[in-house]
Amino acid sequence: RAGALGALGAPRPKVSFEFSPPKGPKSEASLWEAIRRLEPLEPEFVSVTYGAGGSTRERTHRTVVRMLQETSLKPAAHLTCVEASREEVDEIVQEYWDAGIRHIVALRGDPPGSLGGAYTPPPNGYANATELTRGIRAVAPFEVSVSLYPQVHPESPSMDHDIDVLKAKVDAGATRAITQFFFDIDAFLRFMDKVRKAGVQLPVSPGIMPVTSFEGLKKMSAASGIPLPGWIAGLFDGLDEDPETRRLIAASVAAEMCTRLAEEGYSDFHFYTLNRADLVYAICRVLGVRERSKSPQEAAA
Ligand code: FAD
Repeated sequence: RAGALGALGAPRPKVSFEFSPPKGPKSEASLWEAIRRLEPLEPEFVSVTYGAGGSTRERTHRTVVRMLQETSLKPAAHLTCVEASREEVDEIVQEYWDAGIRHIVALRGDPPGSLGGAYTPPPNGYANATELTRGIRAVAPFEVSVSLYPQVHPESPSMDHDIDVLKAKVDAGATRAITQFFFDIDAFLRFMDKVRKAGVQLPVSPGIMPVTSFEGLKKMSAASGIPLPGWIAGLFDGLDEDPETRRLIAASVAAEMCTRLAEEGYSDFHFYTLNRADLVYAICRVLGVRERSKSPQEAAA
């Protein structure tokens, strides 16, 4: 096994990659370049996000179906309950099943246009990801991944409440949780201790965000209510005009996080790719996740 983790004696990690649907032909071409570059790493699954308020319904659908038809990947479609009735959501879910998709990432979503605003469930709609998960499983036996917030969901009254919500999602049929991105590993580990002590055993993939722009990260963190440790700002300080160094730092921070998490027993990592392959590809190599070697016949062909 190549890679730093292999040298530590850890097994080959399982990875998954998150993409967002393309906005136009140019972003479609670069998305597919990234998908093709990462495909040989044989991720457990790849997922495609769903725009606020269902704005990418068609594009998300088209992207996952193309992945299914044209690659060896196992695509998962993100789905939210925002601004849709139960009937509409169930119809989308049935369409996915009919198209051969077997994995949905079930999310409540945020109210469109009002970051941090109060969420009002749509009339006759699913009120939260727990109800959505139950609804999806009532349509067909999908694998259902749900969200998890190591540093507490911004609307949540407490971490204990978040863990109760996770339990409810498991009871509703969730099969995996993917965490919001984070940088405070100790906070993540303390949170996971509480999750496991509460008796929740479902697989959890830490969400890893390789970040190259501190300004971009600040915006994303503010939008998602994620506290940023001071050391992150320090790493990027003075590098506004130096994208190459920022990229090297991003890869190194993410690889270091994964290595520490692997030492703590985590072996599944979900990468927020931002539709770019290069950093994630490099981090995977560090972790010992690489193309499986070809047989002599395949290599000769
Ligand atoms: P929920 O888990 O439903 O929780 C929301 C609130 O509802 C909780 O604070 C809780 O108070 C309440 N709640 C939930 N279940 C119960 C219950 N059983 N009993 C009582 N209260 C309950 N957003 C998008 O728009 N598109 C995406 O593609 C997308 N992908 C994401 C992927 C990941 C891995 C993550 C972590 C987030 C993603 N998001 C996405 C963001 C997500 O939609 C927002 O964070 C949103 O604010 C909450 O969605 P949720 O599914 O976590 O909500």
